[in-house]
Amino acid sequence: MSVSLGIPQVRSAGPPPSGAPAGSGLLDRHGRRATDLRLSVIDKCNLRCTYCMPAGGLPWLPAATLMSPAEIARIVGVGVDRLGVTELRLTGGEPLVRRDLEEIVAAVRAAHPDLPVSMTTNAIGLAARAEGLAAAGLSRINVSLDSLDAQTFARLARRDRLADVLAGAEAAAAAGLAPVKINAVLMAGVNDHEAPELLAWALERGFALRFIEQMPLDADHGWTRQNLVTAAEIRDRLAARFRLDPHPAPRAGAPAELWDVRPLRGAAPGPVGTVGIIASVTEPFCADCKRTRITAEGRIRSCLFSHEESDLLGLLRAGADDEQLAERWRAAMWGKPAAHGMDRPGLDSPDYVQPDRTMSAIGG
Ligand code: SAM
Ligand code: SF4
Repeated sequence: MSVSLGIPQVRSAGPPPSGAPAGSGLLDRHGRRATDLRLSVIDKCNLRCTYCMPAGGLPWLPAATLMSPAEIARIVGVGVDRLGVTELRLTGGEPLVRRDLEEIVAAVRAAHPDLPVSMTTNAIGLAARAEGLAAAGLSRINVSLDSLDAQTFARLARRDRLADVLAGAEAAAAAGLAPVKINAVLMAGVNDHEAPELLAWALERGFALRFIEQMPLDADHGWTRQNLVTAAEIRDRLAARFRLDPHPAPRAGAPAELWDVRPLRGAAPGPVGTVGIIASVTEPFCADCKRTRITAEGRIRSCLFSHEESDLLGLLRAGADDEQLAERWRAAMWGKPAAHGMDRPGLDSPDYVQPDRTMSAIGG
């Protein structure tokens, strides 16, 4: 089956339809301020997770359209120095597919010695690169891992690479890229029974596990509400082996709701760790969203579920100065939708329009 990489409407010329206050940070008309930048360094990936990519991959972006390390550092600089960005997460596609990833990290780090710079990765190849990435200035890592069973992993990711992922996660911890966070997406009847085992595994290693509800951002458009493993079901699954209590610290706009974890059996005097649940579909947190996104070809997306993008890299390559780049970014964020609407029961109806881009092409 051939799947096209749909590209949303792109704003690149003319005055933006903005009401964004000049000289402000990344405000939107609903009163939110974006400070958390998710920047995709590449759309390509070496796995084919069923909830993300089609089996045959996607038409990858030509290399010349990807941001170079210097361009990434410049865009991050505009975000940090002019727009109030306080943290950066590199993502993709798979960031480790870029051979110059260490150069990207070093370029950002040279300009921003104190900026928290993390990365979301499937960890394939990380075992050999974790130390180099730490030396380049990466602060920490999120590793995606949905199953501890090699066959289930291969069924979900369509590649038999569990051992590489486990080695990568261990190497990240050894290189000091801590706290290592683990992202897991559960799919009904495939890996949802593994929830307690994944948590026990993460707790043993001091990794912070976060379950993510599956969102309708897959290329195959296979998402259904019936197959969604909800946050409530994840908590039920974990309750077979653990007691969960709400974590006392304020959530402060974080996507994951945190729970303190105690084993049901054994004599632990207090919590042995935490688990996070990101309930994007059933318990959305749009009202507190702090994220702004840049795609691998340098386009601003105000929301994962946007149907519009603004071209920042084109403007940069045309010779714009930093304030012109900041102005376009402000304008794009001012129009951020109030909410994604995924929690509405009509999501499965023909009226719901899934964004053209997959999670891999947006940068999750
Ligand atoms: N390739 C890297 C990885 O897998 O970590 C980075 C990109 S991936 C798109 C980022 C995160 O998005 C991963 O944790 C992945 O599990 C998650 N993700 C992808 N598709 C998703 C979907 N449809 N719903 C929820 N999470 C999804
Ligand atoms: Fe690749 Fe990450 Fe998507 Fe899996 S979730 S196919 S690893 S981009």
